[in-house]
Amino acid sequence: MEVLAIVFIPMILLLLGAGFLVVSQVSGFVQSGSLNRRQQFSNQIIQQYMIQMAMAQSQIVQRSRELEVLSSKLVFSNQELGRLNEMKSKFLSMVVHDVRTPLASIRGFSELLLKKSIGAKEEQYLKNIVLSTDQLGHLISDLTDLAMIEAGKLKMEKARIDFVNIARDIIPGISVNAQKKGVELVVAGTLPSDLMVNGDRFRLSQVLMNLLNNAIKFTPAGKRVELTLRAEGRYAAAYIKDSGIGIHPSETKRIFEKFYQAKYQKDEKLRKQGWGLGLSIAQEIIRSHKGEIGAASPGLGKGSTFWFKVPAG
Ligand code: ADP
Repeated sequence: MEVLAIVFIPMILLLLGAGFLVVSQVSGFVQSGSLNRRQQFSNQIIQQYMIQMAMAQSQIVQRSRELEVLSSKLVFSNQELGRLNEMKSKFLSMVVHDVRTPLASIRGFSELLLKKSIGAKEEQYLKNIVLSTDQLGHLISDLTDLAMIEAGKLKMEKARIDFVNIARDIIPGISVNAQKKGVELVVAGTLPSDLMVNGDRFRLSQVLMNLLNNAIKFTPAGKRVELTLRAEGRYAAAYIKDSGIGIHPSETKRIFEKFYQAKYQKDEKLRKQGWGLGLSIAQEIIRSHKGEIGAASPGLGKGSTFWFKVPAG
């Protein structure tokens, strides 16, 4: 028994040890195999990312080259646009100058002939010539203003002026226009005294004249145009209310765009009398006075109110 114990126990222990060794080797091998595979897999993913990154980088390089080409083209187009704009302004001022002079002499000679004893027909023809030269003269000064606005050269000669005097100066002339058309022009309420503004007298008169003339133009005979001047907070404000053809609600803002004439108004004859420039110029003048300008109308056929205000003081 003792011999058996001495021989078998170490053998069993040896066998157990060997078995344990085999099992641990095999499991280690299996573990390192799966570790390797995982490593390989992550290496592949990293490689794929690197390839994608390299591709993206080369795309970025390509795109930035394209962008450089595009931006140099844009610079060129901008320079070209600037050159064309300058040419347009030069052309415009040349035309304006060359047309203004002969126009003045056409008007002058027509007025001279009107003073002679001529027949009724001839008189009418001459009056038509004077009217047309006035319309052309008006267009030319609007185009000159537009060219100056676009070139940023519309200068304001500001001084401290009485807001009410602006209206006082122009009303006599405009009343003649209103009378000719059969429209009643009235100044509503009492005029404020001592309402001073820091503004360009000529340009502010131009705005008021434009709004009053428009009101008379778009109001049928027998109806009336009302002018109100008043202090409004820290502003001096003018309201020109007419009982004319009115404006569609969708167009009360658009009419201040240059060359825009209201589309919903059906009167072709009235449209042909203008160019859609006056209000855009008026807007620009009021802007350079840090003021506001606008129009409101209850709808077509229901009259309109145009207004503007400039800081008082
Ligand atoms: P013009 O009168 O020469 O066409 P304006 O810029 O002065 O140019 O006016 C633009 C447009 O605004 C006019 O064509 C007209 O459609 C509209 N408008 C201006 N004033 C009035 C008004 N008092 N009543 C109705 N519509 C007006």
